[in-house]
Amino acid sequence: MEGTTYDFFVQWHLTERCNLKCRHCYQETSAGEMTYEETCRAMGEVACAVQSWVREYDMSISPSFHFSGGEPLMKRGLLTILECARTAGFSASLMSNGTLMTRDIALQLRRLGIGDVQVSLDGLEAVHDSIRGRGAFRQTLRGISHLLEAGIDTNVNVTISRVNLFQLDGLVRLGEDLGVSAVTFSRLVPCGRGKELGQQVLSPQELAGFFDTVRRLAAGSKVAVITRDPLAAVAHLDGEVPEGEFPVAGCAAGVFGVTIAADGAIMPCRRMDLTIGNVRNNDFRRVWAESPVLWSLRSRQEYHDGCDSCRYWTVCRGCRAVALAHARAAGKEDYLGPDPQCPFYQSAVGVVAAGL
Ligand code: SF4
Ligand code: SF4
Repeated sequence: MEGTTYDFFVQWHLTERCNLKCRHCYQETSAGEMTYEETCRAMGEVACAVQSWVREYDMSISPSFHFSGGEPLMKRGLLTILECARTAGFSASLMSNGTLMTRDIALQLRRLGIGDVQVSLDGLEAVHDSIRGRGAFRQTLRGISHLLEAGIDTNVNVTISRVNLFQLDGLVRLGEDLGVSAVTFSRLVPCGRGKELGQQVLSPQELAGFFDTVRRLAAGSKVAVITRDPLAAVAHLDGEVPEGEFPVAGCAAGVFGVTIAADGAIMPCRRMDLTIGNVRNNDFRRVWAESPVLWSLRSRQEYHDGCDSCRYWTVCRGCRAVALAHARAAGKEDYLGPDPQCPFYQSAVGVVAAGL
């Protein structure tokens, strides 16, 4: 569309090493990490791909790297990598547990022009520490204060489950007291170590109630209260649903972004451990353009048992990682089936007949 700027991001897991061992973490295995030279070379390749799309399709793209881990502060050469990202013309953000953040590192991040830092917080002190280990909460809060003092846009992200569902008001109040710019929420995906927390995954009804609470909190809070979950796009829909066969919002996997793991593996999303190539030996642009997995995620007719015939497909498509984890629990390798937490799903016919 003329005048439209498209977002494109790479969630880049720089290392699998972490100083914590969170119960819900999706990291399960450890692999040979790319060196920072390899990482910078791969970043250059991604930047070339974006530049070629801009040239060939005459489109405007806003590219970003979201650096994560493991804990990205444990990556040797992190600051050099962030320099590379800047040279590549990408905006850069960091996703961290916050516990290793010092005043000095925060100032260096500021100097490097890091756009924002997302710090994980999984509940108020007792809940957070029960997931991340004793003392983690206070260390995280100290890290957040260093970031804020350095003038970095800082937000906290909560992985939502039955473990912390009852603390939403308190978490938003904490965000206000800390002075962060936003409190954001992601769904628990029962993969990796998160499989242990399978019983804590919200039911569709609980998820619908959660979206209502988010809306209430967002209306009355000094900080932004946000969930980027694709189902939130349906729950908070304001206006017409765009029709058509092309995704315009919703699940980003393979549509607006992709994940690169510490060993160079390319995946649609880190929570979907489906390797579709590796930046060490595959051309990134080709993988993005030709991967059958990515094309299936972009094609309505490849989905089945609900999302394919749902009128919200263009703006939602459910969380494909949750769909995959659910299918795997039943012994199937299927990421295109229903999102089992969808409150709007009975069958696609049910969704339309309910007039939602
Ligand atoms: S059926 Fe699929 S596309 Fe429709 S609302 Fe539910 S998850 Fe979203
Ligand atoms: S699969 Fe789930 S976690 Fe991954 S981009 Fe889609 S909605 Fe987000």
